[in-house]
Amino acid sequence: MNIHEYQAAELLARFGIPTNPGSVATTPDEAAEAAQRANGLVVVKAQVHSGGRGKAGGVKLAKSPEEAKLAAQAILGLDIRGHIVHKVLVAPGASIAREFYLGVVLDRPQRQVVVMASAEGGVEIEEVARNAPAKIRTAHVDPLIGLHAWQARQLGFELGLVASEVSGFAGIVQKLVNLYLETDATLAEINPLVITSDGEWLALDSKVSFDDNALFRHTDFEKLRDMNEEQVTELEARHSGISFVKLDGDIGCIVNGAGLAMATMDAVKLHGGEPANFLDVGGGANADQVAKAFELVLSDPNVRAILINIFGGITRGDIVAEGIQEAMHRVKVAVPIVVRLSGTNAEEGRAILDANGLHAVATMDEAAAKVVAAARAGSENPAERSA
Ligand code: GDP
Ligand code: MN
Repeated sequence: MNIHEYQAAELLARFGIPTNPGSVATTPDEAAEAAQRANGLVVVKAQVHSGGRGKAGGVKLAKSPEEAKLAAQAILGLDIRGHIVHKVLVAPGASIAREFYLGVVLDRPQRQVVVMASAEGGVEIEEVARNAPAKIRTAHVDPLIGLHAWQARQLGFELGLVASEVSGFAGIVQKLVNLYLETDATLAEINPLVITSDGEWLALDSKVSFDDNALFRHTDFEKLRDMNEEQVTELEARHSGISFVKLDGDIGCIVNGAGLAMATMDAVKLHGGEPANFLDVGGGANADQVAKAFELVLSDPNVRAILINIFGGITRGDIVAEGIQEAMHRVKVAVPIVVRLSGTNAEEGRAILDANGLHAVATMDEAAAKVVAAARAGSENPAERSA
């Protein structure tokens, strides 16, 4: 789950990191009022779940309330990498002496949390990572002991900070690591972390993402969710106990079990197709859930064919077949469906499907080949239903 910059800034402040508190405005007039209150130079920033706002014209400095109003006028409604701006943050403008990057993420191969820092912070950090990775320094967080104070200080010295600057920096590093661990974050990032012309450390822009699977431990984070930024279908799926991730292809996948769902996507790709989604109906899928899965998959207009891949274990083939039957009555399925059904009660399941004009294939490979062909043919003859 992603949150906005202004929400991340509040979270950082709660963990003792110096931030630039501002107010959120949804209209140019509100932005002007916020600038009036700030009484001086302000920065007006698009609040969207996307980086690169600066380069997209989503960050503007304003010297007066009038300028802030014009800036908000220009930014509100802007499309930044597919995210429409509905709110801006109006914060006191900082006088920047130097910009740094500081981030905390999981280093999967190392199986440890890693702190990344660079003296080349700001809007070009991706370039630095690509062209001069040695300029990004790292320190791993021991899962038992945590981050040692000396590691945070060493990181500061590696960035070329002088002794008087290092203690402030090290404190921020430790607080950001605490935030990452305590909130079950998947990312906690400050870019830029700046030293102002007064020699103060300040987190000017921050980004925090939470691990969806740990949200049950942080029920208060639910109010941070911005529905304008959510994939509605993914939320609906979550409520039905279905794991669903929308992708860019045209072959809808309905599968039981996360591992099988991954393998199914691989099989589709192997045959030259592109999956439209990852979908796991869960181990004990019932008719209702299968019907819901159909609705989710069909809500994507790119879907040209659907592959249902069920291996009956706990899930029974006949129950799934009933779900498919019910779904076909409930929702209008105008694209070809390919079913692979095996395992527990597969025979009974196939009989139900046969009665509905759907003939399940036996192997996953065959099913993948067939659905890819059906998707191609489906674009020419969308009414045809194959199985
Ligand atoms: P991003 O492009 O989405 O990462 O947005 P940022 O909030 O990081 O802003 C981009 C850049 O705008 C920063 O790297 C700064 O150089 C500049 N910027 C942001 N806030 C201020 C500010 O208060 N004062 C000044 N002078 N520059 C700022
Ligand atoms: Mn930034």
